[in-house]
Amino acid sequence: MEKNSIFKYSIKDLQEILINNNFNKFSAQQIFDWIYVKLETDFNNMTNLSKSLRDFLVQNFEAKPLSSLVIKESKDGTIKILFMLDDKRTIETVLMPQKYGQSVCVTTQVGCKMACKFCASGLIKTERNLETDEIVRQIFTMNCLLKEKYKDDLESPRARVSHIVVMGIGEPFDNFNNVMKFIDIINEPKGFQIGARHITLSTCGVVPKIIEFANMKTQINLAISLHASNNEIRNSMMPINKAFPIEKLIEAVKYYIQMTNRRITFEYILIDDVNDRREHALELAKLIRGINGYVNLIPYNEVEENPYKKSKKVDEFFKVLKKEGINAIVRKEFGADIDAACGQLRAKREGVIKNEI
Ligand code: SAH
Repeated sequence: MEKNSIFKYSIKDLQEILINNNFNKFSAQQIFDWIYVKLETDFNNMTNLSKSLRDFLVQNFEAKPLSSLVIKESKDGTIKILFMLDDKRTIETVLMPQKYGQSVCVTTQVGCKMACKFCASGLIKTERNLETDEIVRQIFTMNCLLKEKYKDDLESPRARVSHIVVMGIGEPFDNFNNVMKFIDIINEPKGFQIGARHITLSTCGVVPKIIEFANMKTQINLAISLHASNNEIRNSMMPINKAFPIEKLIEAVKYYIQMTNRRITFEYILIDDVNDRREHALELAKLIRGINGYVNLIPYNEVEENPYKKSKKVDEFFKVLKKEGINAIVRKEFGADIDAACGQLRAKREGVIKNEI
């Protein structure tokens, strides 16, 4: 019989399973503590559980970390792992050390349907949603690695993942239910204890899902991949804009802020001669003026397979926004020496992978 991954259950789900099988529901907390705090993967070692419960868990569930195919560590401390899933598909996850803790960029899909022209993820042909447990296991496996790396200083904030950005491969709002369940699980105070305000989710602009997300009234940070100041440019870069043009997107953003009272992030990749002119900065300022948010200017990471080039006008663009009274920051680049940009490591491996495993 196939076993269920324990990583797909919230504490509430586990309580229900325990009750239905005549176990004490409070053991769900103990199981969460073993798995997510102690990082124990062998149910037999969970010594404060009854023998009958341990047997039940062994028979019905498994707690497997993801298998790591390639681990690359950058000079700046960024760690990138190419994981192999049980069906042999590969995904990548990046850990970025920050002043405030350890931040992990998670992947939510194998490949991506959104086909943004500038992004390497669209080059990956196989596509499917990741299951909840496959997203949770990215964090679990990173935590195992950090525990080993900081084994002499386990109290250090460096020894565990504290922040999550849902900005890896895939469109999280195209895999809404699994991503929300993932957030529910990592948010659990008895488990990884990653607070909603430490989680940032980025979307290319799936408007109905932004509304649905707003209605959930969470404290999770929302980032919008805007990347253009008008529909003409955005249409040329991002097919999603044809379904949900900028006006609809901005309306949804305003609704989100109204419902949650949270500040929004607008991501804006600066691409040479596409969206980086002074007039674009002015147009952007006009578009978002008055909205409780800020612009995250992202230096473009060039991808061999497309013609887009890095902008040379990042500072200039930044200054125009500032002068217009718009809050903006320039995003620090991580792990440029280890292909840390979206889909790059995986896209590069894709051709050779079959020969190597
Ligand atoms: N699908 C989601 C999340 C994944 S991409 C979204 O679109 O927001 C995370 C961010 O990286 C997005 O803002 C995306 O537009 C940006 N991105 C993609 N390819 C990039 C590249 N080559 N260089 C810089 N940023 C890139």
